[in-house]
Amino acid sequence: MIIGCVKEIKNNEFRVGMTPDNVREYVNAGHSVLIETNAGIGSGFLDEEYVEAGATIIDSAKDVWDQVDMMVKVKEPLPEEYPLFHEGLILYTYLHLAADKEQMDALLKNKIKAVAYETLTEKDGSLPLLTPMSQIAGRLSIQEGAKYLEKKFGGEGILLAGVPGTHKANVVILGGGTVGYNACRIAVGIGANVTILDINLKRLEELDLLFGSSIQTLYSNDTNIEKAVKNADLVIGAVLIPGKSTPKLLKRSYLKSMKNGAVYVDVAIDQGGCAESARVTTHDDPIYVEEGVVHYCVGNMPGSVPRTSTIALTHATTHYGLMIANKGLEDACRTSDVIASGVNTYDGQLTCKNVADSFEGYN
Ligand code: NAD
Repeated sequence: MIIGCVKEIKNNEFRVGMTPDNVREYVNAGHSVLIETNAGIGSGFLDEEYVEAGATIIDSAKDVWDQVDMMVKVKEPLPEEYPLFHEGLILYTYLHLAADKEQMDALLKNKIKAVAYETLTEKDGSLPLLTPMSQIAGRLSIQEGAKYLEKKFGGEGILLAGVPGTHKANVVILGGGTVGYNACRIAVGIGANVTILDINLKRLEELDLLFGSSIQTLYSNDTNIEKAVKNADLVIGAVLIPGKSTPKLLKRSYLKSMKNGAVYVDVAIDQGGCAESARVTTHDDPIYVEEGVVHYCVGNMPGSVPRTSTIALTHATTHYGLMIANKGLEDACRTSDVIASGVNTYDGQLTCKNVADSFEGYN
């Protein structure tokens, strides 16, 4: 198969669909790889490294799109890329079609075989191509929180770990899933006092076993949340109810009782956020202050560390990408329900129930 990768054109997107290491894996499996010039530059990968790994560098994105059987990307194609589609192309990337009818119609019209990272589901129900981004956002949430606790950003002016003779910071994490666990790891590692709340008692048991006496686990209800955030220096919002908008656990009224200069990092903002006061911010303008609490609500946190994000994402995508390339999409789907769960459009048909359910007339 001829596999391609173009430079991402979405604003502020510095990740890339393939690293030189990934190229080597595809080439070793007998495939040809075409990379648009400078595609990896935002993540620190040079054209020379791709060539050394066995890729051919192509000057224009159009020439890559025209020649490949399978395009590996990060973000969904943008309207200016639709004219570059050709019938039968396998498109392997994040798509988020339920929120993008224009893109869906373009994929159907051009008979694209579109495999979406976000719907590819393992047998245990996990989403292996979303997990690395949650791991990164969780770890980053403590790093960003520590930064905005600095006085110059409106924070309390305290160090998470403290020093001998001073108080350590109190970190409260709402939700103990992938984001919450990773935030917890970093906060514990730094030496902060960590409290983590979840409604899933089994999950609290696992966290208790993992972290022992280094953390306080609490059942997530209004009383416990209100009490915990009152003494918190840093609160992380990491709750998810799949397919639904995030419950507003951090009420506006609780903010008034919080410390002046406390920081709230809402990782779950992409699903609406866990605070009544949360609204989406960007990397260019990441914070705002309400009731004295510094809010950080960036919807694409992994974008600030594109090199780590690219490497982590492509470790996961290459595994399944190779299955598609080696067998062809049809055979890969016949032998793997996991690959089949990623297929959103095929030969002009919408093939993902969740996406179809989001649009009238398609289900
Ligand atoms: P997850 O499913 O692994 O974990 C969610 C946890 O929330 C679960 O343990 C669940 O039991 C818990 N929960 C549900 N209701 C709760 C409640 N009322 N109180 C406390 N806990 C509750 O999900 P995840 O991968 O950790 O993702 C969390 C959120 O972070 C998602 O919305 C995800 O989209 C988002 N995310 C955002 C970014 C970003 O850049 N902003 C990046 C990655 C992930």
